[in-house]
Amino acid sequence: MTYDVIIIGAGAGGGVAANVLTAAGKRVLLLERGISQTFAETGRDPLRNQRMSLYGHNAGPNADHPRVVEQADGSSRVVLPWQDGYQGNAATVGGGTLVYGGQAWRYHPNDFRMRSLYGQPAGSSLEDWPIGYDDLAPHYERIEQELGVCGDAQAMTHLPAYARSYPMPPLALTRQGTLHRRGATQLGWHTFPVPLALNSVPYADRPACIRCEWCVGFACPVDAKNGSHNTFIPRAVASGKCNLVTGAMVEHIVTKGGHATGVVYFDQDNQRVTAEAEVIVVAAGAVETARLLLHSGFESGQLGRNLQGHVYISANGLFDESLYDGLGPGVSTATARWSHGNDGIIGGGMLADDFIVLPVIFWKRDLPPHVPRWGLAAKHWMRDNYSRTAGLKGPIQDIPSPEARVTLDPSVKDRWGIPVARLSGATHPESIRTAQFLHAKAVEWLRASGAREVWGEPPAAPYLSGGQHQAGTCRMGHDPRLSVVDASCKVHGTDNVYIADGSVHVTNGGFNPFLTIMANAHRTAEGITQRW
Ligand SMILES: Cc1cc2nc3c(=O)[nH]c(=O)nc-3n(C[C@H](O)[C@H](O)[C@H](O)COP(=O)(O)OP(=O)(O)OC[C@H]3O[C@@H](n4cnc5c(N)ncnc54)[C@H](O)[C@@H]3O)c2cc1C
Repeated sequence: MTYDVIIIGAGAGGGVAANVLTAAGKRVLLLERGISQTFAETGRDPLRNQRMSLYGHNAGPNADHPRVVEQADGSSRVVLPWQDGYQGNAATVGGGTLVYGGQAWRYHPNDFRMRSLYGQPAGSSLEDWPIGYDDLAPHYERIEQELGVCGDAQAMTHLPAYARSYPMPPLALTRQGTLHRRGATQLGWHTFPVPLALNSVPYADRPACIRCEWCVGFACPVDAKNGSHNTFIPRAVASGKCNLVTGAMVEHIVTKGGHATGVVYFDQDNQRVTAEAEVIVVAAGAVETARLLLHSGFESGQLGRNLQGHVYISANGLFDESLYDGLGPGVSTATARWSHGNDGIIGGGMLADDFIVLPVIFWKRDLPPHVPRWGLAAKHWMRDNYSRTAGLKGPIQDIPSPEARVTLDPSVKDRWGIPVARLSGATHPESIRTAQFLHAKAVEWLRASGAREVWGEPPAAPYLSGGQHQAGTCRMGHDPRLSVVDASCKVHGTDNVYIADGSVHVTNGGFNPFLTIMANAHRTAEGITQRW
C-alpha cells in the first residue's frame, strides 16, 4: 500500500506529526521500533528504570541496539542502552514521553538567537534559529491545550504574555516547594510553578494525578501523565487514517536523487518490508535520526554534528525540618531569573526543585561526599536525614560544538546488520563555565531556603552532552553548508524528506526540550499538509 506520509518514530515529535497529518486527512504509516507498553509492562523497579538504569531499564531499547562511544584517547567501547555514555532516551510508543517527568517548558525568546546575543565562541557552532519564539507561540499553545499541561501562565513573566492560559491549574504546593519559594523571596528572585504535562484535575477523559512518588522514569499508574502515547497517537489511530506498526526497525530511506519514494524496515518477525509514500517524516530522536539519514546515504558536512543535550547542574541541601510529604511528582517551583543577562556568561539556565528522588536513587547519586557508600553509617545517615534533604537542578543552554557528533561505526553492526551510531566529541568548554555559574546560584538558593549543609559539584570539564534531552544533529538553517534542514524542517537537497524531532534544534534552550520538540513538530506537520 502507498501512504501519503510515512513517519519514522512514534515519540514526542512523531506522535504530534501523526495527529496533525491524519486530522488533515492524510493516510499515515507510523513506524516504531519499540512496543506499545502498559503500566504493568513498564514496571516499578527502582534499579531498572529510565531514571536510574543500573541493571537495565524499563522503556527500551533492548540489547539489540548497542552504540559505540569514542573516548578522548581515540579508543572506543561498545555500550548497551542502559550503560554510561549511551546517550539514550526511550524506545516505545510515546518515546521518552511514556516515562518522562513532563516538565513542559516554552523556550525563552532569547534562546532562539544565541549567536546574535552572545557571538560565536571560538571552536563552537553557536547559531541563531531561522525561526523565533513568535513563530512557535501558536504551536506551543496548541500543544499545551491538546496534550494537557497544568501551570500558571500569568506567573511566567520571563515570556511574552500567553494568548491562552494553561488548560489546568498547577498542582497544590509541596512542603519543599513552600520552603524554596520562601528562600527565593528572600533573595528577591521571582518563582513560579513548573508547568507539567499531567492532569492536575480530570482532563480529556482521564483522571487527575494521584500524587504518587513513581513519576519520572516510570509510566503513570492512573494514566494522568500526558505523553504522545495517550493523546496524539491514539487520536491519530482513532481517525482510521493511521497505521501504527510496532516492532518496526527502519533500515533506510529509499531515495532517487533528491526524492524519497519510501522506506525499508524490518518487521517484528525480522522480515524486510518496503513501504512507499509521498512524504517521509523522520522523528527517531537526535541520535537515531542522524544514524538513519547517514545510513540512507544523505550527505551533508553538518549531518550528525552539534549533538547537544543539557549540561545539568545539581545541588543538594540538608535542612533542620522534615521536608518529605510524599507528594509526587515533587518538582514544583522554578526560577528563570538566571536564563539570560548574566554578566560574562553565555546564556544561563533555569533552576527548579527536583522530582521525588527514590531512596535507592538518592543513595546512589546524591549522598554527601563525607558519608560512606555502604555499611551501617550510611544506613544511619539515610534513616536520619533522607527526609530532611532537598535538591535543586537545572539545564543550561549547551554551547554546541561541531566535534560532538554521531557517525556510523565502521565495524559494529546491530542484529539487523545496520552500522550502529558512533558517538564522539564533547560539548564546548563555555557550557561548563555556564554550568558552574548556575550551580553557584543553586547553592545560594539552597542556603537562602535554610539548608545548613550543601553539597554537589558542578561539572569540571567538557563531556559529551546528549542523553534524554538529545538534540541538534540535523540543525535547522537557511544555509545548507551550515545546516541539515531548512526553516520548514525539510532536508536540504530533497523535495519530500522532513524531520520532526529534537535533532532540528539549533540550540537546545535553557529549559527541558519536549514541549519545543512537539510545538515544532506541529508547525512542521502543518506545513506538510499545505503541500497537497
Ligand atoms: C526519564 C526521562 C525523563 C524526562 N523528563 C523530561 C521532562 O521533564 N521534560 C522534557 O522536556 N523532557 C523530558 N525528557 C526528554 C523527552 O522525553 C525527550 O526530549 C523527547 O521524548 C524527545 O522527543 P523526540 O521526538 O526527539 O524523540 P523520542 O521521543 O525519543 O522518539 C523517538 C522514537 O523513535 C523510535 N526510533 C528510533 N529509531 C528508529 C528506527 N530506526 N525505526 C523505528 N523507530 C525508531 C524510538 O524507539 C523512539 O520511540 C525525559 C526523558 C526521560 C527518558
